[in-house]
Amino acid sequence: MATSVFPLSGSTVSVGANTSSSTTAARPLPASLAWAWPLAGPQSGGPPRVIHAFNPPAKPWLSGHRGVDLLRTSGASIRAPTDGVVTFAGMVVDRPVLTIATADGLRLSFEPVVSTLVAGSTVAKGSQLGTLTAPTHCDSGPPGLSSCLHWGVRRGDVYLNPLQFILDLRPSVLLPVVR
Ligand SMILES: [Zn+2]
Repeated sequence: MATSVFPLSGSTVSVGANTSSSTTAARPLPASLAWAWPLAGPQSGGPPRVIHAFNPPAKPWLSGHRGVDLLRTSGASIRAPTDGVVTFAGMVVDRPVLTIATADGLRLSFEPVVSTLVAGSTVAKGSQLGTLTAPTHCDSGPPGLSSCLHWGVRRGDVYLNPLQFILDLRPSVLLPVVR
């Protein structure tokens, strides 16, 4: 039986010729880029409770909640969720605010947080930013019991949900716990 051998060299093989490069669908962050929580939860190592969810206004001039509130009594250590540079540490109206910027253009703000850091300080993921102080905008009962860290993230003028950057989120954490 004769066997024909066709050499493949020199042939152009087109596999799945799809020139579309529109890969705009959301993809999960690689672990190396995921952020950490800025504070510890009630059980050490566990996630903190989110008591007020991200609820951006439909229009910039309307009221809303441009961040998340994490339940914690004052005095808690606040840690950097990711690497960055301090761009602001001081009072905004009546509350102390700390802001850090990331290399990829995000700005993270934390309040009310007192800090010894100054603008220009570099911070590494997990390093201490400062201490949660009082009053917070969650206080509704006895001082401290319902205190929270307000954490905001924005790119330019657009506020983003900080929780989307945290890798270990479980669905239960996303549910706002009301009272
Ligand atoms: Zn808040």
